[in-house]
Amino acid sequence: MTSPTSYQQNITEFPVRDIEKIHLPKDLEALKTILLQADKSGRPVYPISTGHNWGLGSRMPVNDADIIDLKHLNRIIEVNRELRYARVEPGVTQQQLYDYLEVHAPELMLNVTGSDSGSSILGNIIDRGSGKSGHRAEDLRELTVMLADGQLIGTGFGELQSSQGSFYKYGLGPDLTHLFTQSNYAIVTEAVVNLRVKQPFNLYLAVLDKSGLKGFLNKMAELVAQELVGYSLEIDSQNDPKIYELFEWGMDFNDKWFAWFVVTGHEEVLPAKHSVVTKALSSLVAELKTYPSSDDHSSSTPPVRVRIDRYHGQPNDHSLLATARKFGVELSGMEVNLDLYPQIPGFRCVLPVIPFTGASSDIIQYLESFSLARGLDPAISIIALNDYSLEVFVRVYFDRSDQSAISQAGTWARDLLSELKQQGIYPYRLDIENMAPYLQELKNPYTLLQCQLKNLFDPNNIIAPGRYS
Ligand SMILES: Cc1cc2nc3c(=O)[nH]c(=O)nc-3n(C[C@H](O)[C@H](O)[C@H](O)COP(=O)(O)OP(=O)(O)OC[C@H]3O[C@@H](n4cnc5c(N)ncnc54)[C@H](O)[C@@H]3O)c2cc1C
Repeated sequence: MTSPTSYQQNITEFPVRDIEKIHLPKDLEALKTILLQADKSGRPVYPISTGHNWGLGSRMPVNDADIIDLKHLNRIIEVNRELRYARVEPGVTQQQLYDYLEVHAPELMLNVTGSDSGSSILGNIIDRGSGKSGHRAEDLRELTVMLADGQLIGTGFGELQSSQGSFYKYGLGPDLTHLFTQSNYAIVTEAVVNLRVKQPFNLYLAVLDKSGLKGFLNKMAELVAQELVGYSLEIDSQNDPKIYELFEWGMDFNDKWFAWFVVTGHEEVLPAKHSVVTKALSSLVAELKTYPSSDDHSSSTPPVRVRIDRYHGQPNDHSLLATARKFGVELSGMEVNLDLYPQIPGFRCVLPVIPFTGASSDIIQYLESFSLARGLDPAISIIALNDYSLEVFVRVYFDRSDQSAISQAGTWARDLLSELKQQGIYPYRLDIENMAPYLQELKNPYTLLQCQLKNLFDPNNIIAPGRYS
């Protein structure tokens, strides 16, 4: 569907923005023409890669703008097996790269997300999303971007076109790559993304008492810092729809957290790591289950099976399908697009980033009590971005046809962001509704400099106005 109306539909029921036109460029020349026209007419444009920005805005712009949907720029330009990277265009999906690697470089894998298999690699990375093995932005080597005047710029060694491939991400002099992540300075047309060598692993599921979160986080921080556990930790609250099948398959627990993580290594080292990790956690968890990647998990409960797949680099749609199914909706068909099914509950989310320490359990407790005091039972996932930061994905669900529930969830998100800010706790990503007021209040010399840079790259402010600056 290419009507503006379908691009306005969104799972969060954000008020619609004025979208007059959907541009679907087929190549860089067409993209340049669109940008030059926009620059001349002053009508802003908002780029999306696959537009699965669910919870943060879906396919809608921050401010009124026409959409540049980059889904047709979907070439896998290069996969380098020796230097372990892929060079991809915006429309390349997680599934597309997975399928390609299985044929051409089966020893390599992408750090995939828990979003659907049809979501992009590039859009997620430049929005600084999170993968199953850590922060996606840390997987980024180089970018190619198109400025508002149509000029193409390569970051890192990109501009020098090194004959040796992409192997040194900083280039020479100031490093510009991350000026173009979470930013509206340009349109990204190519990204060079790290690939990893597949390794055997054990997946663990730890069940812990709510009161045990502090001790568990402390111990996990230690194990991750010692490189015994990878950047893989995901702790889900019991009401998280993506794990509801655990309880259908006989797991019977109340008032617990459900923690997933992996330990990787060669067959000879894995048993030794397993022994250290299980000993370290034994007194902190009610139950610890182990799922070796070498076993056949075809008959395991879906939350286990899909995690095994993801840690093998294989994306899937499980988080979306399970969420829909929990609320009584069976999604089928080729495209799993939450925006288009009003019968699936909408959701609002807030995404604080917090230190990877036991003391952060107080923040989690605060998120719960803040929400419960407003009559909302939040689903919470706590996800390791690296060995010192955790992302919290806290969200509330609502009936998309109930205006008062929509507005209650909106107020919850706005007030929670504001209360957290008072406590010096900030989000790692923002939704299109809260972005402008939140950043406006932050105004300081740093944000002022960001605005000056915007003016330098895009003087007529035609690329995604309001997006992060
Ligand atoms: C159940 C569920 C699970 C999820 N799991 C995860 C998860 O594990 N990790 C995670 O990070 N997110 C997750 N998400 C959120 C979201 O679905 C993903 O972040 C998704 O990858 C974003 O969609 P996209 O890749 O299509 O990016 P887009 O929606 O295309 O883009 C994201 C943002 O980047 C900007 N952008 C995109 N392309 C360009 C470009 N070429 N140049 C300049 N700017 C651009 C867009 O303007 C937009 O603001 C989840 C959501 C749901 C509902």
